[in-house]
Amino acid sequence: MSDGGPRPLPSASGLVSVARFLASTRAEGPGERTAVWVQGCTIRCAGCFNPHMWTFRGGEGLAPDDLAARILHTGTDGLTLLGGEPFDQAAALAEVATAVRRAGRSVMTFTGYTSEQLREAVAEGREDVAALLGETDLLVAGPFLRDRIDTVRPWVGSANQEFIALSDRFPHLLDDVRREHDRIEISVDASGQIAVNGWAELELLDELLSSLGRNPPARPPRGASPTA
Ligand code: SF4
Repeated sequence: MSDGGPRPLPSASGLVSVARFLASTRAEGPGERTAVWVQGCTIRCAGCFNPHMWTFRGGEGLAPDDLAARILHTGTDGLTLLGGEPFDQAAALAEVATAVRRAGRSVMTFTGYTSEQLREAVAEGREDVAALLGETDLLVAGPFLRDRIDTVRPWVGSANQEFIALSDRFPHLLDDVRREHDRIEISVDASGQIAVNGWAELELLDELLSSLGRNPPARPPRGASPTA
């Protein structure tokens, strides 16, 4: 039965539009991962922490092979795709994910679409959506709902978001998620620029940064943008 919800956009080009590339993080999925935020999202959840990633303008256009090479060069355990909305550029990201998995590394994909919407897109013939799902080991699905904030489970923003294991890559992960605490990662580069990965309520983030003698970033960045 159709839920009548939105469907992912077909990819507009063969390039991936990248909003942010983080070579190494431990706050965006299991283990040490490379995180790629894509530019563009049609879902537009109220309270999204990454509204600057809604527009499909901007971002760095990268060929899938080039992006995959950059990811593999980092030597991390795997790739986490966030956004923005990965399934709005599923075809190109499926190529990236294929290369990452061929190298023996894992792929985790955040999406603001529900698992039902993705299943229905596949049933309607969306091969790009099927391809990215087929190259994803762990899917985190569902829009960010600001009235259902989840401060317990790692990586997600709201309680409706589902962890779905699409391969046996993380056999204990769904159990581990119940035990693992949510975390944020704060880094300060040589120029004093602060980057925050992971999810935290604004008040907590303000308190944490002021205890470090730092002003919060002008726009609080979100690692796992509440969904994506
Ligand atoms: S939370 Fe994710 S899916 Fe929702 S609007 Fe923001 S980027 Fe898009």
